[in-house]
Amino acid sequence: MKIQVRAEKMMLAGNWVDKEKTFDVYDPQDNRLVAQVPLSTKEDMEQAIHEAEQAFKKHQEWPTHERIKVLKGAVEYIQENKELYAQTIATEGSKTITEARGEVKRAMQTLEISAEEARRLKGETINFDQNEGSENRIGYYYRFPVGVVGAITPFNDPLNLVAHKVGPAIASGNAIVVKPATVTPLSALLLADAFEAAGLPKGMLSIITGSGRELGETLVTHPAIKMVSFTGGINVGKTIAQQAGVKQIGMELGSNSPVIVLNDCDLEDAVSSCVSGAFGAVGQNCIGVQRIYIENDLYEEFTKRLVSQTNALNVGDKLSENTDVGPLIKEDEAKRVESWVNDAIQEGGRLLTGGIRDGAFYSPTVLAEVPEHAQIVKEEVFGPVVTVYPVDSLEEAVEKSNDVDYGLQAGVFTKNLDHAFYAVQHLDCGGVMVNDSSDYRIDEMPFGGVKHSGLGREGVRYSIEAMTEPKVVAIKL
Ligand code: NAD
Repeated sequence: MKIQVRAEKMMLAGNWVDKEKTFDVYDPQDNRLVAQVPLSTKEDMEQAIHEAEQAFKKHQEWPTHERIKVLKGAVEYIQENKELYAQTIATEGSKTITEARGEVKRAMQTLEISAEEARRLKGETINFDQNEGSENRIGYYYRFPVGVVGAITPFNDPLNLVAHKVGPAIASGNAIVVKPATVTPLSALLLADAFEAAGLPKGMLSIITGSGRELGETLVTHPAIKMVSFTGGINVGKTIAQQAGVKQIGMELGSNSPVIVLNDCDLEDAVSSCVSGAFGAVGQNCIGVQRIYIENDLYEEFTKRLVSQTNALNVGDKLSENTDVGPLIKEDEAKRVESWVNDAIQEGGRLLTGGIRDGAFYSPTVLAEVPEHAQIVKEEVFGPVVTVYPVDSLEEAVEKSNDVDYGLQAGVFTKNLDHAFYAVQHLDCGGVMVNDSSDYRIDEMPFGGVKHSGLGREGVRYSIEAMTEPKVVAIKL
């Protein structure tokens, strides 16, 4: 199956709408035109928000069992069309077809979990009589949907990260307006197909395509948007945080994830987990492995095996089943990664393997001896580059791991429980994976970071919490 050039429409409040002005979506591996997509205006965004507000009001009593039915119906639709979804992800984005199929499976799970969590959306009773003067009262709190959620999503998981916003919003009875990544809008539009087929009431979901800069401010600042759910980079995140004012915001931002490898680990497991964690999705993964701190005694052997397994990766055509690593999302991104690597080498770093660019492709790269102040060590590389360092102790590894502005997830490989718990306690981040790389996640778990990695947590149940507010009921008898 090869995706043909498509003239897309966008989903505006339950209607498929086209626009005179469009923008092009290209396959990054060969610059082939894949689709022409409506270039929306601020007025389109305002209309989508207005209609979402109306739909929310109309469906405020929308029962849980119907929301569950819609979510399950969307899963069924995706299941029936899963190869189209996978091909679309692998065509507009930079994932291989194998990775894209994995993402479709995850997106179905995310919606399935959303349906389950809709059943568990509960409050609790409150013992008012614990306070003197508050006797003779009974009461409870329940959670109510905020109304309209505004979501802005990145390119790197163009389906599942949209599902992570739409699933919880629908599960909790909110309406949602999504602005998907400009480079990868097609997977998000396919998700709207699934919800339409499942009978989602009109207006509860809009997917408004176009420029983030043009549409973002309208979405973020509109008074009817009660919660902004953003996943993307720190720079856009800061802009949104400044614009949002007094409203709920959730931010899933970037990272620069460390992994610590101690002498007492299972070496082979550590090496293969670091290779897949660093180079999966061409390193364009918010929890991808960027820095590895290896205890001295193991450093030579670990690095030798890391380089050998990196060299064994197949770089090439995304749609081939034999490919491990595809292109970056744009040639400009590959050029940026190339220049960061070259700067690191100029500053004294040693290239152990990789470092070759061909258009949007950049070969999986391992660096050593990079000065710790280098940009490639301090900032988020978001490409297929990992840097290795020998360390004298776990304490040194933890200190260096924490010495960046980010803190999303980290990994530690050890068979010693004391070491594992030391790392868990002292690593400054939202999740520590023991005997796994930083690149481990299931869609149920609380997911998010500290410092520049974000605000709040996703993971279906936690997103639902962020998209609902508790209302207290106290009854004086
Ligand atoms: P990005 O920040 O460039 O863009 C994200 C979204 O914001 C896109 O839809 C874009 O159109 C929109 N946007 C751009 N300018 C805007 C503005 N001024 N106002 C509002 N919206 C605007 O990110 P990207 O390049 O698409 O994705 C990569 C980044 O996302 C990386 O930093 C990565 O770590 C991060 N990410 C984080 C997570 C997580 O869960 N923590 C997951 C995936 C990606």
